[in-house]
Amino acid sequence: MPAPLPVFLRLLLLFKLVAPVTFRHHRYDELVRALYKVHNQCPDITRVYSIGRSAKGRLLYVLELSDYPGSHEPLEPEVKYVGNMHGNEVLGRELLLQLSEFLCEEFRSRNPRVLRLIQDTRIHILPSMNPDGYEVAAAQGPDMSGYLVGRNNANGVDLNRNFPDLNTYFYYNEKYGGPNHHLPLPDNWKSQVEPETRAVIQWMNAFNFILSANLHGGAVVANYPYDKSLEHRFQNPHRTSESLTPDDKLFKKLARVYSYAHGWMHQGWNCGDYFPDGITNGASWYSLSKGMQDFNYLHTNCFEITLELSCNKFPREEELEREWLGNREALIQFLEQVHQGIKGVVLDDNYNNLPGAVISVTGINHDVTSGEDGDYFRLLLPGTYTVTATAPGFNPETVSVTVGPAEPTLVNFQLKRITDQVYPVRRVPGGGPRSRGKVLSRTPKRKDTATKRQHRGPA
Ligand SMILES: [Zn+2]
Repeated sequence: MPAPLPVFLRLLLLFKLVAPVTFRHHRYDELVRALYKVHNQCPDITRVYSIGRSAKGRLLYVLELSDYPGSHEPLEPEVKYVGNMHGNEVLGRELLLQLSEFLCEEFRSRNPRVLRLIQDTRIHILPSMNPDGYEVAAAQGPDMSGYLVGRNNANGVDLNRNFPDLNTYFYYNEKYGGPNHHLPLPDNWKSQVEPETRAVIQWMNAFNFILSANLHGGAVVANYPYDKSLEHRFQNPHRTSESLTPDDKLFKKLARVYSYAHGWMHQGWNCGDYFPDGITNGASWYSLSKGMQDFNYLHTNCFEITLELSCNKFPREEELEREWLGNREALIQFLEQVHQGIKGVVLDDNYNNLPGAVISVTGINHDVTSGEDGDYFRLLLPGTYTVTATAPGFNPETVSVTVGPAEPTLVNFQLKRITDQVYPVRRVPGGGPRSRGKVLSRTPKRKDTATKRQHRGPA
């Protein structure tokens, strides 16, 4: 049956000439095709993968952009964008498709800024976290869509109220002591969350994400953690006070980078609301529990903010180009923010990578942990910091570091194993006991040649 295909192709070509494929809404099948189209155009720097399925069985697709797609390069940070968590808030979904196409095209045309971004960063884009909700909203279309139609997943659950609540745990630890990051999941967490949430949590645990944004609609503002107010249980959720993280200055800066690079977000007056600088603390706007951005910060190394991008949750197609132009620079600049602060590798005395080492900054009650290659990333504003690396069984190491405004400062640690925990009192000739502080080594020190695994440097 050779005849129908050329006709179809001619129609497709005609369609392409009259209506750019890009500035329109993409139903689920079209979204999947759009992601594979980008992959086919830029196969060397992209990979399409799925993180799981929605309640109705739709695969949750991610497009990865990197100079080595599919592998983590030590010292190269991982970032993510998540769109369409609320199925009826659709602008983020379309912007992320635009961004994927844009990065691919600009890489091909050797745009130096995009080349650098893709060489130095591993970018993961999940355009739709809630494809089931989207289909419900899209079936009604931009004009018909009610305020809540399609917001939840197919089981009627709001996914941004579905993550395990680690805030209460953290507030307790802040008061009585305990970990200030990488708070563990409850034992039965998998049975308590929706399939989409479960997939995203497993995704977060599979990659060492450092920076992220979650794209929503219904307002125009960059919202930073915490979303949950300390007094959440006692107050009207619509009248709450600020709930600030130990990294508040950094979060404010990240939010401002987006709002000021955005066409109009920074002006503050949008959709009948006023937010100075176009940013807000989540809890001071309205408190919500079990949200995704608080979870990112408390359970992983990832700093996530929530971007509200349009007054109209389901904008008409005619508005998409203006929205893209208003968000394009902000979406790129935000990704570039992952390259600030300090980063480095934590090694043991035999030059083995030390995953799970804890990096603490004096004065900021939020640590980060090194990844599987022993590499860590600690976003910090310019300044001078006292930084300590610790790992179980090793002596901590503390250094003073100055962070500049541009490139991250490279700070590697080599931790010495605690060779003896008990200090036998040994008499030295003619004298008293040795200083109790001195460690008596049981095993002779190995030479550097004992290196088992050579650390791979940055590509
Ligand atoms: Zn939303």
